[in-house]
Amino acid sequence: MLDLAIVGATAVTPSHVGPADVGVRAGKIVELAAPGGLRDQASKTLDATGMLLLPGAIDPHTHLDAEMFASRTADDFESGTIAAAAGGVTSIIDYAFQPQNGTLADAVAKWHDKADRRAVIDYSFHVAIFDPSPETIAEIPRIVDRGISSFKIFMMAGFEARVRDFMRAFRAAAEAGALLNIHAEDEHLIGYCTERLLGAGHRGVEYFAASRPPIVEETAVKRALAMTELANAPAYFVHLSSTGAIDAIRRARADGRPVLAETRPIYLYLTEDRFRDPQGEKYVGYPPLRPQEDVDTIWAALADGTIDVVATDHCCWMLQQKLSAERFTRIMPGMSNLETLVPMLYSEGVAKNRISLQRMVDLVATNPAKIFGMYPRKGAILQDADADLVVFDPNRKVTIRSTEMHSRSDYDPFEGFEITGWPRETISRGEIIVANRKATASAGRGHFLERARYSLEWHRL
Ligand SMILES: [Zn+2]
Repeated sequence: MLDLAIVGATAVTPSHVGPADVGVRAGKIVELAAPGGLRDQASKTLDATGMLLLPGAIDPHTHLDAEMFASRTADDFESGTIAAAAGGVTSIIDYAFQPQNGTLADAVAKWHDKADRRAVIDYSFHVAIFDPSPETIAEIPRIVDRGISSFKIFMMAGFEARVRDFMRAFRAAAEAGALLNIHAEDEHLIGYCTERLLGAGHRGVEYFAASRPPIVEETAVKRALAMTELANAPAYFVHLSSTGAIDAIRRARADGRPVLAETRPIYLYLTEDRFRDPQGEKYVGYPPLRPQEDVDTIWAALADGTIDVVATDHCCWMLQQKLSAERFTRIMPGMSNLETLVPMLYSEGVAKNRISLQRMVDLVATNPAKIFGMYPRKGAILQDADADLVVFDPNRKVTIRSTEMHSRSDYDPFEGFEITGWPRETISRGEIIVANRKATASAGRGHFLERARYSLEWHRL
């Protein structure tokens, strides 16, 4: 007897999109059957006629319960993972920050403390390295041994003073089998542009984009490509936003370099015009929103395979926290995205024929699972995989209202967007944790995921 059967849906599996019934036992997918094959075989049956059945999405870029500029994000691991689940995300990888004067192990311990009794879905961490000292570098293989096989580098706020130390860390991470996640913006170019703007008395959010123009990202990507080439390290660029950066990635790939690319929702749906809105601070994140031309580039890069992953960079604040900065350099960066990641990509991407359904599943589930060492347990509808599934209603119309969203943030960057397609049920390890936008998951039910080392052959997994 099965615990759960999902019948009648059109399922997206790695090999095809078509009708299939899925059987679940003890939290795992144990059977993929022809339509009708699993009726009356389970203690609970979900009729998903007319629905899509997708693997649960994996968001490998979140900042929950994070502190920045002495403030704390609106979402902790409970509210953030509930928002994730409500949007069809069943695993996240959050960024654990190396504390000042602390070790990488301190970061991991601190993040377990934030997550372990709160997360409602499965989770892992990347560790962000801020002090690439010999002691830190020596720790890297021990962190990888604990199932944390990726590290983040911010090429700003102190990076330039220690480039050679960071390059030693790049090599050590690669030798340990880890992937480097790089935030590529050039610190000196940002500093120069910012000084000029502030010197001319330009303090408002309408100048934010000019303080970090596209060439800031492009320059940093090119330099990081040189650094990682010399350090013999694979590189994963987070939240790319601009044409120049994407072109640099394409060339590096054409040269056979192990280079991966991520973007995030705001660069797909919003342009820099938003910074001239009366509350333009709402849309501030690093890097800034871009002109329409860059938005078009990012969509083309999703379709042609240059971008591997769409991840949220969910890092959200209350509106008052965003609006209270006295100049653009002090605006809390980031916003809420987790609940809208999948439905917006479906509505704007698949329903509008910019990307295929299979491609969408690759971008938000299968690729992140493979790249970050979670496949085949996560990221695809496969026999023996965890039963992390989304029954997705492709016709449901939803107008995005922050009051109806599960994040604790009190505004949504996509307020008023009309979306076609929304998750009906979200299933995590066989348990229905969200149904019709109501979450029933209990805090702490999420498991920490130990991840495998990065494989250069990830796409062949
Ligand atoms: Zn981030």
